[in-house]
Amino acid sequence: MEQCEQQKLSLFPEATFDQLIALKNISERLTVRSSSRLVRGWNISINRVTGRRTLTIPMFLINAPVPVKMALIAWALLPIDKKRSRSKEEQQRRRHIEEYIYSHLSERGLLKPSISRIDREKLSHKTAGNKFDLKEIYTRINASYFDNKIKAYLRWGTPGSTTSYQTVRRSKDGSCWNLITIADIYNHPRIPLFAIESVMFHEMLHIAIPPYRKNGKNVIHGKEFKAAEKLFPHFEQWRAWENNDLKLILKEMRRRKKNLFF
Ligand SMILES: [Zn+2]
Repeated sequence: MEQCEQQKLSLFPEATFDQLIALKNISERLTVRSSSRLVRGWNISINRVTGRRTLTIPMFLINAPVPVKMALIAWALLPIDKKRSRSKEEQQRRRHIEEYIYSHLSERGLLKPSISRIDREKLSHKTAGNKFDLKEIYTRINASYFDNKIKAYLRWGTPGSTTSYQTVRRSKDGSCWNLITIADIYNHPRIPLFAIESVMFHEMLHIAIPPYRKNGKNVIHGKEFKAAEKLFPHFEQWRAWENNDLKLILKEMRRRKKNLFF
């Protein structure tokens, strides 16, 4: 297995940060470096004289897939200013990029609980979507398949987001809580009930069957997870629908709004 992976890498090398930066012609403006002291987030520093930026990322992001690298580069180039003076559009773009990176980290179990400033009380009033209310879907799935044992807060992803994910958040007092983010694409009026139920079931299952470590790797969608997921009555239908109908909706969304960063 390991050998196969290495071979694959040398045949189709993933572009490095330096290569991507050169490709975008921004070598003068941005340098990316990694730090073993960073375990969670990433940060930006700027040379006030030259205006040159340095993005510092944790070691494990050095070999991130190209779209994640592109997202980090886009994030590093965002205007540096006071939080309060940011326009709504700017804030949204920043959130969209951060959410994309977080969803990548979360799917790989690389996200350690960070102190969250999210107001949970506010979240619980914003679950209603264009067609479905997340709270209703969640409550029904919880009763039917999880014996009402799952405890999670819910929210819709940022406009244009396509990845759903589940994370563990930590409050100031140290207590942990689950947050399920359902991608904005699932808020489209043409989304069928079985699809939103399936994606909700998938994210709730991550709470019921948490990731574990095996041979130094995080197992997220392990054997138990996959077996349990197949027990959901709409699983096959959902997978087929994702490959056909969802792709059409995505195309439509992208045509209408070009707010993607790569
Ligand atoms: Zn998953």
